Amino acid sequence: MSFENLGLQEALLRAVKDSGYETATEVQALAIPAGLKGLDMMVSSRTGSGKTAAFILPALHKVLESRANPTAPSVDEKGRRKVQGPKVLVLCPTRELAMQVAKAAQTYGRYVPGLRLSTVLGGMPYALQLKQLSGPLDILIATPGRLLDHMQSGRAVLDNVELLVLDEADRMLDMGFIDDIKTIADRIPSTRQTVMFSATFAGHVGRLAQDLLRDPMRIDV
Ligand code: AMP
Repeated sequence: MSFENLGLQEALLRAVKDSGYETATEVQALAIPAGLKGLDMMVSSRTGSGKTAAFILPALHKVLESRANPTAPSVDEKGRRKVQGPKVLVLCPTRELAMQVAKAAQTYGRYVPGLRLSTVLGGMPYALQLKQLSGPLDILIATPGRLLDHMQSGRAVLDNVELLVLDEADRMLDMGFIDDIKTIADRIPSTRQTVMFSATFAGHVGRLAQDLLRDPMRIDV
């Protein structure tokens, strides 16, 4: 299917065109329109299926929409400006995968004016992460353990998250992140959209999906 018919903003279509892609892959053709509608999804798709673009393009579309309709900055009880936390949070099992997702977000987001993207990854220095978390953010890409560290020290604010993506959820659970993921999800408003990618939804991944998703669309490609 052509990208033009999926409902994405012009700035994103331009970036896709720059990448040289002719048509959307199967997972993109299904997940992008559903993502733009705000549906929760459980998606099983093979490596190399184009799944990163399937969630990053709708995420960037959301960022562009919020640029067009900015919300007033919120203030705390003393009238101080509250940190504008990210609109989109992507959780990944490993630093390498998170860096690939960040690279894709930069590539597809090259025409999003002033895109504010940050990564919070285990094994990386804290200083830059702390600085980025204190400023306004559009998209945060994180590994669960390090994000939880920052939440526990009050540095990561997730009140503004409207879209939560769990990439390779089965691997995150195999790595023992289940409690971290649940704690993180509990701190995000329940009105959010949640999208889970996983090779399988059997066993504990399926139970996590039941906990986190509302009336999800199932995509199996
Ligand atoms: P992923 O499954 O997200 O790891 O993507 C696998 C590879 O497919 C990446 O190198 C992408 O750049 C590429 N890709 C993503 N979408 C498309 C598309 N619609 N047409 C051709 N290649 C694509």
